Amino acid sequence: MSELKFGEKISLLNGGFVTIKKELGRGGQGIVYLVDLNSQPKALKWYHNSLDQAFYNNLASNVMNGAPSSAFLWPERITERQKGSFGYVMALRPQNYFEFGNFLLAKKSFKSFQAMMAAAMKICNGFMMLHRFGYSYQDLNDGNFFIDPDTGDVLICDNDNVMPQGEKSGIMGKARYMAPEIVAGGIPDKYSDRFSLSVILFMLFYANHPFEGAKVVACPCMTEAYEKKFYGSEAVFIYDPNNKTNLPVRGIHQNVIRRWPVMPAELRETFIREFSPEMLKNPQSRMIEQNWGKLIASLRDKLVICPHCGEETFIDEAKPQCMNCGRDVDVSRRLKLGLRTLLLTNGTRLFIDYDNTPDARVAVNPQDRNMLLLQNLTKEKWTAETPSGKVKSVEPNEFMPVKHGIKVGFNAANKGEIIINNQ
Ligand SMILES: [Zn+2]
Repeated sequence: MSELKFGEKISLLNGGFVTIKKELGRGGQGIVYLVDLNSQPKALKWYHNSLDQAFYNNLASNVMNGAPSSAFLWPERITERQKGSFGYVMALRPQNYFEFGNFLLAKKSFKSFQAMMAAAMKICNGFMMLHRFGYSYQDLNDGNFFIDPDTGDVLICDNDNVMPQGEKSGIMGKARYMAPEIVAGGIPDKYSDRFSLSVILFMLFYANHPFEGAKVVACPCMTEAYEKKFYGSEAVFIYDPNNKTNLPVRGIHQNVIRRWPVMPAELRETFIREFSPEMLKNPQSRMIEQNWGKLIASLRDKLVICPHCGEETFIDEAKPQCMNCGRDVDVSRRLKLGLRTLLLTNGTRLFIDYDNTPDARVAVNPQDRNMLLLQNLTKEKWTAETPSGKVKSVEPNEFMPVKHGIKVGFNAANKGEIIINNQ
């Protein structure tokens, strides 16, 4: 086992070196050190044992190719082989990001549903970009994700196991996040990553595992053989409508019992379909990342501020009531945006594009409490065209009225229309 000491200099492939400052933490694979690279603080992951040349070459090639998106804390430099091992350099994780596992244990919680949705969107986009680059993730688990509970921003770490699709890193992921076909011995690919993505999203929304119900609780001791059954050959979704053998257990799976009925119906329907026996057996029919992205956007379009209690609530259009105070929410004012419908209530923030930053805010007109306004939170000017054909520009931070029939040009790609249902 190789360890490094304060002040040691470690040479990097293609020149330069880092200086060891202190240990930040250690795990099964290696030790993470705070290091100095050209006066910049960075993290160095140093492997306990010297892994084989194929692993080294893959890591070096990932460094060359660069990060697929800003969601990844990607290897920036790789060291030369020395002192019986090697390692790689990455950016330091900022203080305000916490391990996903902390959210599952309720040690940390999202500040808002808006932050939760932002995290889901960022994870989805990260996976989409990873697959676009031709990679598969391989070793996915709740220790890989770090989340800012206030904003929902996500950093995906431990990307040293990212491999081109069709290749196997030799490091087995944790069974809880692996697709059944990988538990059975298959090679990870984008289809198995899609399964892992739906597990991560389920846990993000409901804070329990989708396959851990009565069957797992009844298990005397989790051996490898049992793992292969519960997450592989005999996996049963806890809310499988046709198989109630693995229902969540009261007192143990409280999070999902509480949240399952409260979160929007389309989310429940999607998970029931994605975790159905058919979908578990047919990896190629699993939902693609883009469609998860659309689903999350559509949930976010129904997430509004309740005008009565001021809390966030998802709106079920069949029964538009606040999930906190139970009172009826007036959702007659809407923004039609292509196929999407965004509900407009005072205080609600709107996400027009997919960059995870609010683009508009709904406010009340101080002169007329019955009239809503839309504030431009972007850096671009919008255009607003009235039904009579008058065109006005809405500068950044300026407000425009929420009036029936006004067409809004947010940018070249996004044009919407305000609809007030009773007019
Ligand atoms: Zn309310």
